[in-house]
Amino acid sequence: MTALYDYGEFEQQPGLGRPLVTRVVHSRADLEAARAGRFGETAVVMTMGALHEGHLALIRAARASAKTVIVTVFVNPLQFGPNEDFDRYPRTLDEDVRLCEEAEVDVVFAPPVDDVYPGGKPMVTVNPGPMGDLLEGVFRPGFFGGVLTVVNKLLNLTAPDVAYFGQKDAQQLALIRRMVLDFNLPVEIVGVPTVREPDGLALSSRNRYLSTEERATALALSAALAAGAQQATAAGIRSAARAVLDRAAAADPPLRTDYLALVGPDDFLEVPDDYAGDAILAVAARVGGTRLIDNVPLRIAAAQPAGGQSNGDGAP
Ligand code: AMP
Repeated sequence: MTALYDYGEFEQQPGLGRPLVTRVVHSRADLEAARAGRFGETAVVMTMGALHEGHLALIRAARASAKTVIVTVFVNPLQFGPNEDFDRYPRTLDEDVRLCEEAEVDVVFAPPVDDVYPGGKPMVTVNPGPMGDLLEGVFRPGFFGGVLTVVNKLLNLTAPDVAYFGQKDAQQLALIRRMVLDFNLPVEIVGVPTVREPDGLALSSRNRYLSTEERATALALSAALAAGAQQATAAGIRSAARAVLDRAAAADPPLRTDYLALVGPDDFLEVPDDYAGDAILAVAARVGGTRLIDNVPLRIAAAQPAGGQSNGDGAP
């Protein structure tokens, strides 16, 4: 039987611009071949795999906006500390590819470490600057240098017009925006709101580490953010969120909070108690052997003369 349409290896459904096949490539050369002949806007979604609905929200946003969608799956050794979970981080490429096929992704780029770091451990890396030493940077020294270095490399390898990142990793997103600004990188960065379970828990590849009891304790992160978001002032937001975390510290198993911070969205510096404007309420905590982060964007209204109202914005 003769094919009605012959688009060669990179078949497109006529009129829809959607791929009939998702190409899975592992080498830089194959990535270039998979991209050759394509035209129109290219979007990239960078992931470490173990894909869930949070990743899929990014992929769907990319699919809705771009002609070609590339998803990278790479567990980046450079951003893991010596005592972190690099070795046990979930690796589920077959399932990731299946989800990418369903989401009509054009290319999955899943390179081995050697292909991303051909010279071994890089000598030249991105310095995240002062924002990289705050919050996550305090508890994960070197983390943001590793993240920005690999994001920079994957931007160079995939050459997208637009890249999608989750607000779930708000400090990472702010640093990537800053790197793009400071390095004049020719890419648009789009943030996508955090996807949560119905009970509030932010989706994360690490949630699969949690036992039932640990998961119940972990709900304190989103509950703390929701309590904070009900308040009208910076001081009120901090203390309401802190109260929820303090209660969870006495739970079984206990929540051990690394930080709770109310910060400016562009510099991640703590805002003063009389602050008005956009802010991010961010939390990181450990339960059992699992470390989780979460945050919510808030808009704090200027103080009212009397009977100030809840800002009510962005409750998880
Ligand atoms: P990761 O695989 O954890 O490195 O995440 C890859 C991308 O997915 C990052 O831009 C994350 O911010 C984003 N992401 C992870 N979890 C969520 C979520 N629950 N909602 C929205 N985006 C997310």
